[in-house]
Amino acid sequence: MKNILDFTKELIVMHFHDGDTLVDFTMGNGHDTLFLHQHFPNAKITAFDIQEQALNNTKALLQEHNADFEKITLILDSHSNLDTYITTPIDGGIFNLGYLPSYNKQITTLAETTLVALKKALQLLKIGGLLIIVVYQGHKNGAIESNAVYQFCKNLDNRYYTVLQYHFMNKKAPPYILAIQKDKQ
Ligand code: SAM
Repeated sequence: MKNILDFTKELIVMHFHDGDTLVDFTMGNGHDTLFLHQHFPNAKITAFDIQEQALNNTKALLQEHNADFEKITLILDSHSNLDTYITTPIDGGIFNLGYLPSYNKQITTLAETTLVALKKALQLLKIGGLLIIVVYQGHKNGAIESNAVYQFCKNLDNRYYTVLQYHFMNKKAPPYILAIQKDKQ
């Protein structure tokens, strides 16, 4: 079976296309932004993080891989403010929740702002578009956030959205994936 990161990549490759408008809602060290850019070099990518460290790390990683910065916009702000920067429809995006690996574990995504961002992202999502959310429930804020995001997704109206959960059941508080596809406006 594919682990969480590999299945996330598979969802990205299966659902997104070159030339799409994509969002990395939690840029972190830039691995997801780079993955999106390498697989879809003509995609227009916007990436958010609240930490300058994340922006610097992402910029360095992208430079190391000769990324085309014409196609990528890095934004130092919360994904909950995404509508300030993105006003046209998006094809998809990824939330990789939690904290910046190897840095301050107290600075994490939080239920309240994640839900605001998810709601705004769903409004911008095109029909057929996909939002992928990787949820880490194994730390304190993560458990609260996981609960909130899970309930939000579970209650999305199935006339408009199809929601997938990919979850290894026999492990204690494992990370898991939620993916929301918009079927109808
Ligand atoms: N996608 C990243 C990668 O490929 O390296 C990993 C993301 S990391 C698990 C989570 C990131 O979310 C952290 O860098 C953290 O600073 C960021 N974050 C926390 N709250 C945020 C918010 N409100 N808006 C945007 N990013 C946020």
